[in-house]
Amino acid sequence: MKAHDGMYIDGEWRPAAGTDAIAVVNPADEQVIAHVPAGTADDVDAAVRAARGALPAWAATPPAERAARITALRDVLVARKDEIAETVTSELGSPLKLSQAVHVGAPIAVAGSYAELAASYAFEEKVGNSTVHLEPVGVVGAITPWNYPLHQIVAKVAPALAAGCTVVLKPAEDTPLTAQLFAEAVHEAGVPAGVFNLVTGLGPVAGQALAGHEGVDLVSFTGSTAVGRQIGATAGAAVKRVALELGGKSANVILPSADLAKAVNVGVANVMSNSGQTCSAWTRMLVHDSQYDEAVALAAEAAAKYGERIGPVVNAKQQQRVRSYIEKGVAEGARLVAGGPEAPRDQGYFVSPTVFADVTPEMTIAQEEIFGPVLSILRYEDESDALRIANGTVYGLAGAVWAGEATEAVAFARRLDTGQVDINGGRFNPLAPFGGYKQSGVGRELGSHGLSEYLQTKSLQF
Ligand code: NAD
Repeated sequence: MKAHDGMYIDGEWRPAAGTDAIAVVNPADEQVIAHVPAGTADDVDAAVRAARGALPAWAATPPAERAARITALRDVLVARKDEIAETVTSELGSPLKLSQAVHVGAPIAVAGSYAELAASYAFEEKVGNSTVHLEPVGVVGAITPWNYPLHQIVAKVAPALAAGCTVVLKPAEDTPLTAQLFAEAVHEAGVPAGVFNLVTGLGPVAGQALAGHEGVDLVSFTGSTAVGRQIGATAGAAVKRVALELGGKSANVILPSADLAKAVNVGVANVMSNSGQTCSAWTRMLVHDSQYDEAVALAAEAAAKYGERIGPVVNAKQQQRVRSYIEKGVAEGARLVAGGPEAPRDQGYFVSPTVFADVTPEMTIAQEEIFGPVLSILRYEDESDALRIANGTVYGLAGAVWAGEATEAVAFARRLDTGQVDINGGRFNPLAPFGGYKQSGVGRELGSHGLSEYLQTKSLQF
């Protein structure tokens, strides 16, 4: 696979400060497909300087011109969508159709939404005798995970550029090739030098240097709660803005009036998609006692169909982690009705689509984020029991509620401690704010709420 051996800084590909490299591995066949440089604090420093240098001019660029650059970026992503999808498939392992439809399709939609928002957003408002100006926060340090490599980047960079911020991106070490293609697209779109910069590297080295750099005004992080907590502490100590999109353990609550087969089938598909590596996946299915056995049978049947269809998980460590959770589920007394801990293939980091029945709320597999194709089915007695179980984790990122009438599902959803709920299988909306309650994070991405994360207010009184 094609890879740059430098960093994209100040509008050009520059040699890295050090000589260390990161091997990029195709998780489907375990072959090394490329190497990228492992950035150091010196690379991060050069990138932050470039971003600071570019900030005054970009912040002063009229929103319509910033919108034009984001439109051009969206257009380059569209023109190069096949190449990007193939790259995502090579480094993440997702089936090509999923890469095309979701991994590239969603970020194109998000980039388009920010091109429109940049042009139409009210960056100035009147409040009584005051004029409030919404100004860019400054230099953004963006740190992203591998699970939706392009989407996670676009969900930060597009609103940052729309707001007038400049950016240094440190992408996940497993998926740097997609990030390099994104940097090429930014360049092709005519975004001025220094407005967007890319430093590939390891989290505890390049990521940590970026999060702690005094030239960064806002750290926007998506990843695990453990690292997010550390980044929040670093940012807090420096009185720096921080946005955290962290883990999840979302509930899929099926009320007795729902279309059970549809709710179960969509629920299983949701968990198996992207091999379960979706922070908002509905990994806990809550079913009423009276329908429990039927739901378990439907879920086992649905999961069996995914055996040949899902891709591997991203790396050997994740594969081992997910398999350990499956073993833990068995050890704690849950009943395996599909899949299991054995690797289904000799080569590649594959995990069998797995479904557990008889899961109780306090079990590890019902509490901790697994980040693999593993569904837990829990039983509830009545609505208050369902609500207690659904809200009974440290997370609150997403969820789903199914009922015969949307109004019934909505009434239940309003009592969930979570940032997003799909009602009866509601579609993804790129304009709806996305982010967590509780330990799932701080702040929101997407749409106008996502844009406001990159803005600060200045009030002028008359
Ligand atoms: P991770 O936290 O290990 O890594 C995420 C990013 O942080 C990577 O770029 C990594 O290099 C970097 N990083 C690691 N250690 C660092 C440090 N000490 N300082 C600075 N940066 C550091 O997470 P992951 O394993 O890549 O991703 C999986 C996790 O991300 C899951 O928990 C998942 O739920 C979460 N996630 C959340 C969302 C969301 O929007 N809420 C979206 C996707 C993934």
